[in-house]
Amino acid sequence: MHIVACVKQTPKSDNVKIDPATGCLIRSGAASAMNPFDEYALEEAVTLKEQQGGTVSVITMGPPQAEAVLRDSIARGADSVYQLGDVAFAGSDTWSTSYALSKGIEKINAIRPVDLIICGKQTNDSDTGHIGPQISAWLKMPNAAFVKKVVEVKEKSIVVERLTEDGSEVLELPFPCVLSVVKEINSPRVRSVKGRMAAKRAQVTKWTADDIGADKNMLGVKNCPTHVVKSFVPKREVCAVAVEGANGKEKAARLVSLLKEGKYI
Ligand SMILES: Cc1cc2nc3c(=O)[nH]c(=O)nc-3n(C[C@H](O)[C@H](O)[C@H](O)COP(=O)(O)OP(=O)(O)OC[C@H]3O[C@@H](n4cnc5c(N)ncnc54)[C@H](O)[C@@H]3O)c2cc1C
Repeated sequence: MHIVACVKQTPKSDNVKIDPATGCLIRSGAASAMNPFDEYALEEAVTLKEQQGGTVSVITMGPPQAEAVLRDSIARGADSVYQLGDVAFAGSDTWSTSYALSKGIEKINAIRPVDLIICGKQTNDSDTGHIGPQISAWLKMPNAAFVKKVVEVKEKSIVVERLTEDGSEVLELPFPCVLSVVKEINSPRVRSVKGRMAAKRAQVTKWTADDIGADKNMLGVKNCPTHVVKSFVPKREVCAVAVEGANGKEKAARLVSLLKEGKYI
């Protein structure tokens, strides 16, 4: 079984500033790590490899420093790692990002056929949750999002349980397919000493847009169909009102009238 896990390097904290001129995150100086949800995607890939046999490849699209999350992936049990890095990718929206990742996965597939692609549910910086389903659309593969459990792996398909708004449902998807997983699916392991040593020595394969045969007219901020009109940090205002009254009944009546005045009820 060949599983590809998609991981993104994101800021460690949610206290990241936005450049008011460009509307982009100011990433320089901010400590980064593997997107927390991607730890679960990678853990599921490594667990399935251990159970079924096979290999785990990890792909990221990101700037040079994103290599760190690929080495971290090796420490957590991945076998091969691939980085998509090119100025042509800069400022890509989810449509362009998923296009580039799908072209990268096509190239990995040419090296060794891919059975399963696993993404996290969302990132902690843009958190659209688009990428997994969009990769499946580009690659014309079935997709299951919000997967909380792998129920069974069959010879030609995988049975999963996914969260829905009012419960869960069990789906069977033929290989190759794409899953996006939620935190309930597993508990990511602690990196082993052996894994950390392997991470230092690991070879990171780096591909540009040309290497993966991507159409540059579909990449980067100028060619994205999404245009960010404005990004801003909402102003935090704290205001408290003490509800006065001689007793509980009076205070409750005053509270109700305040809520009505503010049109909250
Ligand atoms: C017009 C526009 C301009 C933008 N400009 C910038 C910019 O200049 N700089 C910038 O940093 N961001 C920019 N973004 C944000 C960027 O598009 C998204 O961060 C990116 O497309 C991934 O979407 P997401 O973070 O919402 O991922 P989600 O869809 O929430 O992620 C789901 C899963 O997909 C996988 N995944 C997501 N991204 C990657 C990745 N890069 N590599 C591998 N796997 C991944 C992970 O498994 C993740 O858990 C821009 C967005 C827009 C709309």
